Amino acid sequence: MNYSYVSHLICPKCSTTCNITEPQHLCTCGSPLLVEYDLETLAEEWSPADLRDRPADLWRYHELLPLQDPAYKTSLGEGMSPLVPLPNLQEDMDIRQLHMKDEGIIPTGSFKARGAAVGVSKAKELGVKELAMPTNGNAGAAWSLYAARASLESTIVMPVDAPKITRNECALSGANLYLVDGLISDAGRIVGKAVEEHGLYDVSTLKEPYRIEGKKTMGLEIAEQLGWEVPDVILYPTGGGVGLIGIYKALKELQHLGWIKSDKMPRLVAVQSEGCAPIVEAWNQGLRSSSFWENSETIAFGINVPKALGDFLVLDALYETEGCAIAVDDASLLDEQKRIAQKEGAFVCPEGAAAFLAARKLRETNWINADDHVVVLNTGAGIKYPDTVNIEIPILNPGEELQSKG
Ligand SMILES: *Cc1c(COP(=O)(O)O)cnc(C)c1O
Ligand SMILES: [Zn+2]
Repeated sequence: MNYSYVSHLICPKCSTTCNITEPQHLCTCGSPLLVEYDLETLAEEWSPADLRDRPADLWRYHELLPLQDPAYKTSLGEGMSPLVPLPNLQEDMDIRQLHMKDEGIIPTGSFKARGAAVGVSKAKELGVKELAMPTNGNAGAAWSLYAARASLESTIVMPVDAPKITRNECALSGANLYLVDGLISDAGRIVGKAVEEHGLYDVSTLKEPYRIEGKKTMGLEIAEQLGWEVPDVILYPTGGGVGLIGIYKALKELQHLGWIKSDKMPRLVAVQSEGCAPIVEAWNQGLRSSSFWENSETIAFGINVPKALGDFLVLDALYETEGCAIAVDDASLLDEQKRIAQKEGAFVCPEGAAAFLAARKLRETNWINADDHVVVLNTGAGIKYPDTVNIEIPILNPGEELQSKG
């Protein structure tokens, strides 16, 4: 058996194919490229039983990942995050079964580590020495730390408003870190120029094809954790949409392999913030691509993406699974974050809270049925965003006594 059954790259827009042995970025038509595997051969040679004795990380699916030589594997133990039942919250929302796929415990504090692990490993295999990216924080943190582990250089540009801890993660990793007084789109323009002028390897969202492959392992894991079944609904806080595209791709691949039934796909839900909802607006109008969202702003920083390169792939996945897109407001998602901590003891990130709130709202309108099985992605750790919690706490003098609760 081969370590990987990767075969080539294909453009989802114009069907041009490219090899996987040289660095590749976008298709000549401007579209992101997707990774293809020899699924026919793999279906004959691989079965779920082969996974039984493998470590509980995302590399257990290496046949369905693009890295060809395990010598270049760059790992901090990422993947196989828990699928946590939420009995109190599901009762509160009147949903039969509610699970949280909790990405908050992954190295670097967010699921961006999945994309970074696979993307950095493949970059190393391709002979890359220095990578560069614009980021809203978490991606830069993950890619710079994984780059350090692979002994690659990294150049990261992020908005000054990005969560401070992600800035520290990048700085500590030894990355060349710059802050921009603007949005991720402004950071993107700066990185674009540096890539052109200094020949850096561009790892901006979807400008290299392998990050999706890392993130798709969330879909593989959900299916494996449910005994090769899929839930009725999966909600995902959507910025660039990489995770949603990846989960959809993973489930299609599992259908091809015959590991899950081919007649049931979960309805996928893209959740955004009312302050930045280009995918929701496009979906509401039945469009196949989105428009740039002016003056975007939200406390859920990871989903502040005014125009996603892969918007058409996200929208296709929503239409093809009879899913939907929905926006929630910042104040209400912070209330939901508090409710989840109080009912379940989980400190989810604001992006995850947005997805939970969306589940609640979709249940209220009966888009989610009472007997549905729902999985919500909590994409990062709440503890990465200490400033989103504002609570007045009583301060005691030493020797003062607690007042008994009346
Ligand atoms: C990046 C990020 C998202 C959005 O991910 P995409 O796959 O780009 O849509 C959601 N939540 C968190 C915490 C993030 O860092
Ligand atoms: Zn193309």
